[in-house]
Amino acid sequence: MKIAMIGTGYVGLVSGVCFSDFGHEVVCVDKDTSKIERLENGEVPIYEPGLDALIERNVQGGRLTFTTNLAEALKDTQAVFIAVGTPTRRGDGHADLTYVMAAAEEVARAAEDGVVIVTKSTVPVGTNRKVAEVVRTANPDLNFDVASNPEFLREGAAIDDFMRPDRVVVGVESEHAQDVMGEIYRPLFLREFPIVFTDLESAEMIKYAANAFLATKITFINEIAALCEKVGADVKQVSKGMGLDNRIGARFLHAGPGYGGSCFPKDTKALARIGQEYASPMRITETVIEVNEKAKNRMIDKLRDLCGGSFNKKVITVLGVTFKPNTDDMRDAPSLTIVPALVGGGAEVRVVDPQGRHEGEALLPGVQWHDDPYEASEGSDLLVILTEWNEFRALDLSGVAAKMRTAKLADLRNVYSVSEAEKAGFAAYSSIGRSPMG
Ligand code: NAD
Repeated sequence: MKIAMIGTGYVGLVSGVCFSDFGHEVVCVDKDTSKIERLENGEVPIYEPGLDALIERNVQGGRLTFTTNLAEALKDTQAVFIAVGTPTRRGDGHADLTYVMAAAEEVARAAEDGVVIVTKSTVPVGTNRKVAEVVRTANPDLNFDVASNPEFLREGAAIDDFMRPDRVVVGVESEHAQDVMGEIYRPLFLREFPIVFTDLESAEMIKYAANAFLATKITFINEIAALCEKVGADVKQVSKGMGLDNRIGARFLHAGPGYGGSCFPKDTKALARIGQEYASPMRITETVIEVNEKAKNRMIDKLRDLCGGSFNKKVITVLGVTFKPNTDDMRDAPSLTIVPALVGGGAEVRVVDPQGRHEGEALLPGVQWHDDPYEASEGSDLLVILTEWNEFRALDLSGVAAKMRTAKLADLRNVYSVSEAEKAGFAAYSSIGRSPMG
């Protein structure tokens, strides 16, 4: 099977590379010439564990190529995936479909009869039918089908998620599209990972419903954490006790500084917007969006309290700024709200992140970048753990505390315990949903 993948971002690149690993012949296309040049030179433009080795293996195997030339990529291609960005449209929260529709039009002009045009980007209900309309208008003679194939991979664990998915969702309305999609995912089907075939609208809805549900779960435990702090309960014990109930499940029950990233913020906003458009309000999702914004502000208040009421002239070291570990993605990361508040409040802010600097430098003006958490915390008044990279999970806490001007730790990912912080010599320790110390 020959496949073209349009968009070589976090989703397109991982999906294209994994399809080639299934044995398909894959051409990855992007408009960004520097991305394609880097890929052709064996460089990987994003940080995703394991991706470099998988690219190398499949390029060497002759199954994976990269190009900026869409027409060339579409020669003899049975399926073309659209995996371009769908960011939040300015002003109204709607998903911006400009890139999807532009890609659809380009595909229409270059594709060959029998092609299945698959939308992998996260798109509002009705988009696949609009894609079909755009293609039909641009090339009325083309014989094609559409399919909706939303992606559920998580950055940082993307390859494993793609290769061992909980399920694959495919929305189709023709037998031909179902056959082609079944053939593409056959290697997973053979290993008994479920493929759920639905109509187009249901597939589009599943993606938003799933993301909004996960964002709700995170926000729920964050709200419970805030209450735990008031009543003297420990949210780690609470989420363990809740998560062992199979009806609830332990995942996405870790309290933290509020969700961020390239999907949850924009997808919850888009779902709320769809609800408004159809006069079927998504009240729970709307509240989740609002509560999540407040969670980030609650973190700023927590840090200010630790600094004695003001950030002015304090030296604050922040460990981790990417929205989660094992990615270099900074989109909608909580750090983008929290760090500017520290800088704006007059603090000297030092930042350490194993992969975030390249993206983060432009987004976090006024901070100093360091490579080493020990060096960065020297002379600091407050250490903040904002992203739980493995590098920050086993720090020599006594060594860090001894170097600081005032040894205070804000552990916004609950990596350590009150007793560990106390033993290490911290004068104050504050985490999420647990009684503070000092
Ligand atoms: P991204 O911004 O990382 O990548 C998009 C790529 O598409 C860019 O490289 C851009 O240059 C390219 N592009 C745009 N228009 C193009 C065109 N006409 N022709 C060729 N290339 C074009 O985006 P992403 O994070 O990979 O997300 C893509 C989609 O997948 C979004 O809808 C997103 O919601 C969804 N999604 C993302 C994730 C995630 O973890 N990032 C997970 C599941 C679903």
